[in-house]
Amino acid sequence: MSKDWNTRTKLVHSGTRRSQYGEVSEAIFLTQGFVYDSAEQAAQRFDQLGEDEFIYARYGNPTVAMFEDRIAALEGAEDAFATASGMAAVNGALVSMLKAGDHVVSARALFGSCLYILEDVLTRFGVEVTFVDGTNLDEWRAAVRPDTKAVFLESMSNPTLEVIDLKSVAEIAHAHGAIVLVDNVFSTPVFSRAIALGADVVVYSATKHIDGQGRVLGGVILGTKDFIRKTVEPYLKHTGGAISPFTAWVLLKGLETLDLRVRAQADGALKIAKALNGDDRLGRVIYPDLPNHPQHEIAKAQLERGGTVVSLEVQGGQAAAFRFLNALEIVTISNNLGDAKSIITHPTTTTHQRLSEDQRMDLGITPGLVRLSVGIEDADDLVGDLMQALDAV
Ligand SMILES: *Cc1c(COP(=O)(O)O)cnc(C)c1O
Repeated sequence: MSKDWNTRTKLVHSGTRRSQYGEVSEAIFLTQGFVYDSAEQAAQRFDQLGEDEFIYARYGNPTVAMFEDRIAALEGAEDAFATASGMAAVNGALVSMLKAGDHVVSARALFGSCLYILEDVLTRFGVEVTFVDGTNLDEWRAAVRPDTKAVFLESMSNPTLEVIDLKSVAEIAHAHGAIVLVDNVFSTPVFSRAIALGADVVVYSATKHIDGQGRVLGGVILGTKDFIRKTVEPYLKHTGGAISPFTAWVLLKGLETLDLRVRAQADGALKIAKALNGDDRLGRVIYPDLPNHPQHEIAKAQLERGGTVVSLEVQGGQAAAFRFLNALEIVTISNNLGDAKSIITHPTTTTHQRLSEDQRMDLGITPGLVRLSVGIEDADDLVGDLMQALDAV
């Protein structure tokens, strides 16, 4: 029955496991282990764990299972595995499925820690990785080979919001039997149906929109039952990337309001992008729902909305960008995104500081570029704050 529910209903009810007390709000099973009725029952569970049976929190926990089932219902995935952070999810998805000698093709514009896993970790264990410009389908076609095991991409890049044609990349990969892994954070679980577009495995940092209130770190891997239970679970349950039941509960409650929050954030982002677009104190105003965005047509076809982040280039380079950030009164300077509070980041000196000047220029990360994660505040107040800060520059 829950398969037919619409998104908002799934986000409130899917996966609920009610205890004998009949609680309304989902229970936090803050327990490391589970007791058995008998020695025989313990032996049986260790031999063959049944549906909704638990033995140790590193392997599974009822609150964690509620979170996993709820997000799997949202994504239209057969199954999900929750992890301690977004990076534990990215690492778990990749390392659990790859071995020495495998070939991976990845988009070049990646979150710094994702780049570290692909460039440093995987290659150290003998995996060959080819990087491509994710927006250039010819580069994907040239790089994917008959022996390519997987392709990896962030469907919308950070911080320049390039949108990758996931449908076409999946067709290229599948023609060679490669598995498509997508880090879908910037597209958000609300606006992107990555599995329907061809993704085999979808990964989220739940730290972002799913919590959305800046409280916890968490992550999740979504895919087929076979992939999650036979590939991901054995790796993660033995290597310790388990999520805390308390964190899973925070994220479970985050899911209830996810759709409402993310839509309000996207409304604000569009209003801000329109208000600032063409302002001569700014260079580029980057937002996928603006017609001048380089992948506007792909965004319209593959994402319901353009997301919750707007990137801006302040005229006058780093000094001007710093004056702009320091003059903001509502928007706070930090580096999370997807939060109810609007947050602004200067990528050159923070999130992308580790990259060389050449790498940054290659990715379009100029000294004047700032990344604005739009929260749920009143959009007119946010526009006013951004305008007064531009005046102050
Ligand atoms: C934040 C983020 C991650 C890492 O998530 P954590 O929860 O911080 O470990 C991975 N990929 C993308 C695109 C992100 O934005």
